[in-house]
Amino acid sequence: MARSKLLELLRSAPAFQASQTGYVDHGVADVEPFPFPAIVGQYEMKLALTLAVINPAVGGVLLLGPRGTAKTTAVRSLTDLLPVARRSLCENGCSEDLLESGGISAICDTCAQKVGYGEPLTSFERVHIVNLPLNARLEDVVGGIDERLALEQHRLRLERGILSQADGHILYIDEVNMLDNVIANAILDAASQGFYSVRRGPQKLSYRSNFLLLGSMNPEEGTLRPQLFDRFGLRAVVRGLQNAEQRYLAYEQAMWYRRDPEGMAAAFAEQTMALADEIDAARTLLERVSIGASAKQEGLRLISEMGIESSRAEITLFEAARAFAAGNEQDAVTVDDIFSVAALALRFRHSATIEDFLEQQEVDDARLNALLAEKSSAP
Ligand SMILES: [Zn+2]
Repeated sequence: MARSKLLELLRSAPAFQASQTGYVDHGVADVEPFPFPAIVGQYEMKLALTLAVINPAVGGVLLLGPRGTAKTTAVRSLTDLLPVARRSLCENGCSEDLLESGGISAICDTCAQKVGYGEPLTSFERVHIVNLPLNARLEDVVGGIDERLALEQHRLRLERGILSQADGHILYIDEVNMLDNVIANAILDAASQGFYSVRRGPQKLSYRSNFLLLGSMNPEEGTLRPQLFDRFGLRAVVRGLQNAEQRYLAYEQAMWYRRDPEGMAAAFAEQTMALADEIDAARTLLERVSIGASAKQEGLRLISEMGIESSRAEITLFEAARAFAAGNEQDAVTVDDIFSVAALALRFRHSATIEDFLEQQEVDDARLNALLAEKSSAP
């Protein structure tokens, strides 16, 4: 039996010093994605992406590193590893779940009719990656008026935006630190609520928008707003390659891919499919994975010692550890699992500014309390 690629990946996780980078830079779009198992080195990045696919509750992944470190390649490579998920057939996001929880008034008229005819409201579809280009306008992101329909038929209809198209899928933003503030706010709103509303003239519509957020950025090109940074659960640092042999191998893989992407995909098909199967199995197992008492204690200790305020730290740390355990075919999270994902989940979460702010508050409060005590003890 071929050695499990997923487990290999997971076992290598504690050795985070081995954060070698495969220099894989291909200029070809819309062909076979670069095979995920062919990415040389970069264990940390591959682990982060794999954990997020196993358990989207980790809250997304941010890849941080210089240009030419295969960040975008790795995200595209995920395509073949993504699971099949239930997807609404209606642009309002109606589903059997919605019908069950909210009754017939929770779904739109068209779908209510479908229910009457016994037609399904959802179908199964492979999760895919929706790109958010940097030059996208707000209308593209949240949806706008269908101009063709408005001109030709004098009907006002709202087109689904990228955020709605990403519902149930993955939203990928390259150079996320360069994102326009207005667009970033729209994404933050949708990400926090799982839906968003748009108003255009007399029409107002709400769209479901539950997605896994993936971002990549080059820290040389500017910082990320703290609010947006906090939204990314796992933070993978993608470094340039240290090992010369690996660099050469990565170069060879890159050239192979340039020459013959289909042939390369075929050569790696078995490994890719095995990995996809294991991710599927881990997703199934995930439901049953619980967090052991000592794992819980150690996780909370790390967060407290690191001086982290945001409670997203707990969500990401424990959910990533559950994904890690599931990938390792365990049904309980151990301390080792916590330690294996700790760097990914907890780095860049401590804020010196917030610490200064809270210290200042303590100083002021102490002084105020002293003054109040003086007053009350005065004759
Ligand atoms: Zn509907």
